[in-house]
Amino acid sequence: MALHESSLDPKQACFDTVLGSGLGFSRVVTRGQTLRIVDLEGNQAVDTLFFSAADPAERYSAVDTIREQGAIYLTTGSPLMSTENNVLLNIVADTCGRHDTVGGACSAESNQVRYALDKKYMHSCRDNFLLEIQHHRPELSKRDLTANINFFMNVPVTPEGGLDFDDGISAPGRYVEMRAERDVIVLISNCPQLNNPCNGYNPTPIRILVW
Ligand SMILES: [Zn+2]
Repeated sequence: MALHESSLDPKQACFDTVLGSGLGFSRVVTRGQTLRIVDLEGNQAVDTLFFSAADPAERYSAVDTIREQGAIYLTTGSPLMSTENNVLLNIVADTCGRHDTVGGACSAESNQVRYALDKKYMHSCRDNFLLEIQHHRPELSKRDLTANINFFMNVPVTPEGGLDFDDGISAPGRYVEMRAERDVIVLISNCPQLNNPCNGYNPTPIRILVW
């Protein structure tokens, strides 16, 4: 864990909003700007994808990020790499300690496979991503939805190499902050999942700020 607090003052932010539980969001963050995501009530998974605004075919790459930093979890100092091996953003502050990039996003399909066939119609992150890009991001399509980051989500890797979806390690008010190294599109699903402990069975709002 690399806990590191930010010196940025929310009063100076040029963008500041609260995103309700279970909702989608997207915005362009320009090079040099800093994006902060705050887990307002704790234990909230925030499924996030990044794309180069100049060429959205270049996007966040979990495998390149893991290889480049030689570690599975994301925290302060993690460069978020693209499919072209460029740094899209750098995590510059983190009061949670670690974030997942292997667990993926919940979907109608995973809800059926993991829980029950009648969970197909429950709200999911993939549906949030699809709805958000359909309404606001014509430059993106279904095929652009690849392996995402789950900020604040606890997916420990066991000594045998297995994955668990565990109760969260985040808490009210914890945040993660990253500086954009290029103009990026950020696409967020504030996870609505009710069937596993990633949201403490109680999805809650997040705050999104940009400086
Ligand atoms: Zn989800």
